[in-house]
Amino acid sequence: AKANGRNSCAVFDEVMREEAMRILDLEADLRRAINSDDFVAYYQPIVRLSDRRVIGHEALLRWRHERRGLLAPGEFIGLGEDSGLIEEVDWLMYAQVAKRLAREDFGYISVNVSPRHFLSPDFADRLLRLLDEAGANPHRLRIEITEGALLDDTARALRMLRTLRSNGVLVQLDDFGTGFSALSYLHRFPLECLKIDRSFVAGLVGDTRPESMAVVRAIQALAGSLGIHTIAEGVESEAQRIILRELGCQHGQGYLFGHPTEQLLPMASLR
Ligand code: C2E
Ligand code: CA
Ligand code: CA
Ligand code: CA
Repeated sequence: AKANGRNSCAVFDEVMREEAMRILDLEADLRRAINSDDFVAYYQPIVRLSDRRVIGHEALLRWRHERRGLLAPGEFIGLGEDSGLIEEVDWLMYAQVAKRLAREDFGYISVNVSPRHFLSPDFADRLLRLLDEAGANPHRLRIEITEGALLDDTARALRMLRTLRSNGVLVQLDDFGTGFSALSYLHRFPLECLKIDRSFVAGLVGDTRPESMAVVRAIQALAGSLGIHTIAEGVESEAQRIILRELGCQHGQGYLFGHPTEQLLPMASLR
């Protein structure tokens, strides 16, 4: 039994060592990828639910990994945030988006930012400079933040939102309903819209339908009282589109309308 215990210990050590090596490898890969800009922005259309007219796109990060192919953020964003490298990746993304905005007229493009990065002191200045240098109109860029970015340091978040907004960059609140919403704070922040988290949209069909409808209704009421609109995330079926419309949600995004691709779609109705 003793020998056995030692063996399983050795196996365990080996597994731990491999896991550590894998993370180190990926971090080294990520640094290299930043140097050679191996990232590409994919764009997913955001549409008006009533007639499926495209109003804008969300830029979603993809990593063209030399050996592992195209990686979605889920595979490396945790590492990127822990190592702080995600900020550099974000700037590479924003540069690509600014170029597309300067070149093509396809509505607005929203970009994601992690809470800590959003609150770094020079975020707004650097972003506005980047847009200016690329010749992109700030009114066509939007930022998506999660509630964490507002609650960590509300005074700083408020200053950041005001600076961005007064320069034309609107901010929308991502994954709404999943965080620890401090509803009493929300009216203080100049937000353009709430993005209804896709878990509630998924719940609109099936057993959880009554609960999810109640949540979406509550979010709609809240948005109404704040005088802002909503975007439903993860709309995958016509049934969901119809319920969301009935609940008063104006805009949507999801596989029903289009997967993320490298193309931007013109501002016309999808068939
Ligand atoms: P998110 O901001 O909530 O983005 C929406 C995610 O839902 C995307 O995953 C998108 O591909 C996926 N999605 C869209 N429609 C549907 C649908 O109908 N059904 C389902 N099941 N999923 C759908 P993705 O591209 O893997 O991105 C994951 C997360 O990574 C994003 O979540 C965002 O938090 C983060 N992220 C993406 N791009 C960036 C970036 O440039 N910078 C930073 N810091 N984070 C990013
Ligand atoms: Ca987002
Ligand atoms: Ca989201
Ligand atoms: Ca999310």
